[in-house]
Amino acid sequence: MYVSTHFVTGAAIGKMVGNNWIAFILGILSHIILDIIPHHDYRGKKGAFLDTLITGAMALWLFSSPSYVFWGAIGATIPDLEVIISYVFFKKKGPRFFPTHSGKFTHRAWKWPGGFVIQVGIMLGAVLFLLRTIPRFVG
Ligand SMILES: [Zn+2]
Repeated sequence: MYVSTHFVTGAAIGKMVGNNWIAFILGILSHIILDIIPHHDYRGKKGAFLDTLITGAMALWLFSSPSYVFWGAIGATIPDLEVIISYVFFKKKGPRFFPTHSGKFTHRAWKWPGGFVIQVGIMLGAVLFLLRTIPRFVG
C-alpha cells in the first residue's frame, strides 16, 4: 500500500487509542492488515514522489497533534522503511523481514483503478475521522 495510506490510518488509530505505545504497536499491526487488503502499488519514481509529497503534507497537517497521533503514524509507516532501503540501496533486491514484504503473508495486488480507489477510501475515512476528532478543526 501507499505510504500515505499507512501514515494517515496510523494517525487515526493513534487518535483512537490515545496512548503512544499502544498507538505505535497498533500502527505496525495496521500495516499488516492494510497490506493484506488487495491494493495498487506504484512502480515508478513519479508515484514514489507523489506518495512522499502527500505523506509530507499530512505530516505537516498533523504536526501539532498530540504525540499518540504521531506515534500511530510512525508505527504504521515504519515497516515500509525496509522497502525504501531495498529500492534505494539494493536495486529492489534488498532483504525484507516484515511479514507482508517477505512473502510470509500474501501482499495481494489489485490493479488500477480499483486498487487505487480502495486506498483513497481508506485515506478519506481516516482523514474524516481526524477532522472530526482534532479539536482545532471543529467548528
Ligand atoms: Zn508495506
